[in-house]
Amino acid sequence: METTPAPAAPARRRRSRAPFPVTVTQMPMATCQVCGRALAHRKGEVSAILTAHYERDHPELLGR
Ligand SMILES: [Zn+2]
Repeated sequence: METTPAPAAPARRRRSRAPFPVTVTQMPMATCQVCGRALAHRKGEVSAILTAHYERDHPELLGR
């Protein structure tokens, strides 16, 4: 008897321990002043990456 293969689950981004699955060794790092997490970013995008991190992990800081 053949089993029906389960449909591929859609790639879903969950809040996991690995927010950046890519290798970040070549990217500059910024440290979150709130939780101390190192955040990889591209040059000139540190504020954007911090804002994105706040929205994700510290929404209360943005008044949400
Ligand atoms: Zn943080």
